Amino acid sequence: MTSGSKTTKADSAAHDACDRSVDVAIIGAGIQGASIAWWLTRLDPSLRVALIERDTGFSQASSQRSASSIRQQFSHPINIQLSQFGLQFLREAPSLLAVDGEAPAIGLTDPGYLYLAGPEGASSLRAQHALQRQHGAPIELLERDALANRFAWLRTGDLSLGTLGAGAEGWFDGPALHQAMLRAARAQGATLIQGEVAGFEMSGAGRSGATESNATAFGATDAPRKIAALRLADGTRLVCGTAVNAAGAWARPLAATAGIDLPVHARRRTVFIFSCPSTLPDCPLVIDPSGFWFRPEGRQFIGGRTPEDDADDLPLEPNLAEFNETFWTGLAHRVPAFEALRIENAWAGYYEMNLFDHNALLGAHPVVDNLLFATGFSGHGMQQAPAVGRGIAELIVHGAYRSLDLSVLSVARLTEGRRILESNVIG
Ligand SMILES: Cc1cc2nc3c(=O)[nH]c(=O)nc-3n(C[C@H](O)[C@H](O)[C@H](O)COP(=O)(O)OP(=O)(O)OC[C@H]3O[C@@H](n4cnc5c(N)ncnc54)[C@H](O)[C@@H]3O)c2cc1C
Repeated sequence: MTSGSKTTKADSAAHDACDRSVDVAIIGAGIQGASIAWWLTRLDPSLRVALIERDTGFSQASSQRSASSIRQQFSHPINIQLSQFGLQFLREAPSLLAVDGEAPAIGLTDPGYLYLAGPEGASSLRAQHALQRQHGAPIELLERDALANRFAWLRTGDLSLGTLGAGAEGWFDGPALHQAMLRAARAQGATLIQGEVAGFEMSGAGRSGATESNATAFGATDAPRKIAALRLADGTRLVCGTAVNAAGAWARPLAATAGIDLPVHARRRTVFIFSCPSTLPDCPLVIDPSGFWFRPEGRQFIGGRTPEDDADDLPLEPNLAEFNETFWTGLAHRVPAFEALRIENAWAGYYEMNLFDHNALLGAHPVVDNLLFATGFSGHGMQQAPAVGRGIAELIVHGAYRSLDLSVLSVARLTEGRRILESNVIG
């Protein structure tokens, strides 16, 4: 194991005999925590792995409030590769995640994403398409006439082209995947502990008892060296060899208790459910050049856009005002049949938005060597969870990535000032 050493008898003896002790403590049992636990218990069944989750009903967890879509149309190779593995995993999920012969229904469907561009965006869409093809993503380039022929319900007059990943992109039942992953991880031996992690107990060269107030930007210079135990809000301790921050949109306050200022902010996104009397044959997930998106959801549609007021920690209630004139006219412009749409419902969830560069922050932090991160997904964490869980598990068990090298997404890039540029961040 890496910094994620197994707790030794001597370590444990140093602590109160009543304390619980595990090899790996994963904070947050959303899709990321569940995936890490599943991979860990698969890679090394002897590991004692605990998931610590404050709300086992997951009432606010993003993994239960996601649009749960998967695409290969990214502009950075690592994001393409993460989703390629995600798709493969989703296809095999019913057998991989079966427990006692019961295979979960994940509901994967693959009509693709359709990215649209007008004259201004066309050259960049072409360049991205070339890169995606270079990385084995089977994305088609459709000039305007081809778009009009393929999707008769789409207004194409102001478009130059589109890119479509039919058969290689789509959507799935995210809450079902989350629950299946969690159940399978527990069946493989992971423990789920209900409790809120209030802070860390430090050991090693630095100071102990770091608090939010003494955290510095992107990592304290004199921060503690090692986590000895988690402190739970009920006053109990959990001794651990390695801790993983998989706390989603709450990863930042948790990191602050270890003296680390993480640029991950809880940003509310509203998803609208609407109906339309007409059907749109073969409708993919459409990304309009103006930025909004929509896709079918059963017999209805869901869609959303980046809100104008994008403050941190807004209450998790849908903001119906976001379905305003601009959004409605945008939808009706792109799909004339949407002139007759009717809003049916809406929900809201938090993006765990990485304001540094809108990409995942993974692996060990340079200043606390047995604290690993799996956060900052900025709207694409469901599809990345299978590959991220595997990668973090490899780091813990083998000390290095063995399958897909995720080091480009290292959380250490915050201290190095190295940004990963991804043009295709939705909302
Ligand atoms: C509206 C919306 C649409 C989305 N659409 C897509 C999409 O189409 N495709 C895609 O790939 N991704 C999408 N995402 C993103 C995706 O849902 C998230 O990236 C992913 O669910 C994050 O999973 P997580 O496990 O990190 O976080 P969560 O699911 O939020 O889990 C974190 C857990 O940590 C727990 N926790 C927090 N702090 C503590 C603590 N101190 N102690 C104990 N427990 C704690 C919380 O209770 C929570 O259950 C969308 C997100 C939203 C909100």
